Amino acid sequence: MTDTLFELPNPPAAPPGPPDTPCWVTAYETTTGGAATLAGGKALPRPCPTCRAWCLTGYDSNLCAFQAWATPAALTPQLEAAALILQRTTYRVWGRPGSYELTVRYVPGLHLPGRYPTANECTVIAAHVCNSPPLSDQWIRTAPPKQRIDLTDIPF
Ligand SMILES: [Zn+2]
Repeated sequence: MTDTLFELPNPPAAPPGPPDTPCWVTAYETTTGGAATLAGGKALPRPCPTCRAWCLTGYDSNLCAFQAWATPAALTPQLEAAALILQRTTYRVWGRPGSYELTVRYVPGLHLPGRYPTANECTVIAAHVCNSPPLSDQWIRTAPPKQRIDLTDIPF
């Protein structure tokens, strides 16, 4: 007689990839051939459909996402506190100009678990509110820098 109640089958083999990679990331990268990203796509500069102000818009999460419309002006920790007082959603900006992604940091009335770096350590922007001035004048670059063309390399 054995000491265990059940005979356990052999444990399943570990999925390929680094051991700290979640299985859903491995499955996503295997089926799509692309790297798993934070959000459902890039945040692109677009004019607001109501007031025509330039905004950075895109999904704010990779699951259960909302479309975010944010003013592309970087906030300091003090200005982010002002955004919280004004009940404006704040977003963290990831990536480089032209391929930004947004994740939500603060939603009015919703407690999001976890710790977040301060606005000094990352780029934080606030949600767009039509016909209101931006909270900051530190505009972030929304398009990649243009490549300079060297006219001496053209053969004609
Ligand atoms: Zn607007």
